[in-house]
Amino acid sequence: AELASKDALTNLPNRRSVDLFVDTSFESLVGGDRNIAVALIDLDHFKTINDSFGHNVGDIVLKKVANTLDALNGDNLLAGRFGGEEFAIVARDMDDNTFYNMLNNVHDDINGLSLSELGGRTVGASIGYTMCTGQTDVVNAFRRADKALYIAKNKGRNCIVRAKKEK
Ligand code: GH3
Ligand code: MG
Ligand code: MG
Repeated sequence: AELASKDALTNLPNRRSVDLFVDTSFESLVGGDRNIAVALIDLDHFKTINDSFGHNVGDIVLKKVANTLDALNGDNLLAGRFGGEEFAIVARDMDDNTFYNMLNNVHDDINGLSLSELGGRTVGASIGYTMCTGQTDVVNAFRRADKALYIAKNKGRNCIVRAKKEK
């Protein structure tokens, strides 16, 4: 079960676990007034880190980022590795402000990571997120978060963008 649910490199919940958590969370939304927040975090210029310092160093950076995220994991929050240098946070029953403040802390933590491997350089992260209240399907939540992430990249990276309300 551990192998099926955890990412081998970072030991964070893997993509499958993220999807499962979202599915069960959305099922429990039906008919209720609970909310779900979804954030996607993509490390900035990660390819440059690999190219400059080597893939092994890139792996170390991913593990350090993962450690900060893993501290968030709990019954109503799942932080996992979505793939590559991309991570997802899914939170149940967390209001906008609480979620945004948490993302801000995560962002500060990632920026503040001590990375001697990078000669003291820091790593940036772009974050897109969306709040779902009522029954919003999973695909749309991730699509909206991903759109917001794309905007964060275009704004110059290393920032947090909330998805626009749709319809
Ligand atoms: P951007 O700021 O636009 O996100 O640029 P980027 O360089 O982070 O994005 P890009 O998609 O060009 O590169 C992502 C890199 O992440 C390329 C890939 O080799 C690296 N990567 C993905 N998974 C791993 C991994 O497990 N270990 C290491 N070391 N690198 C990985
Ligand atoms: Mg990426
Ligand atoms: Mg990236």
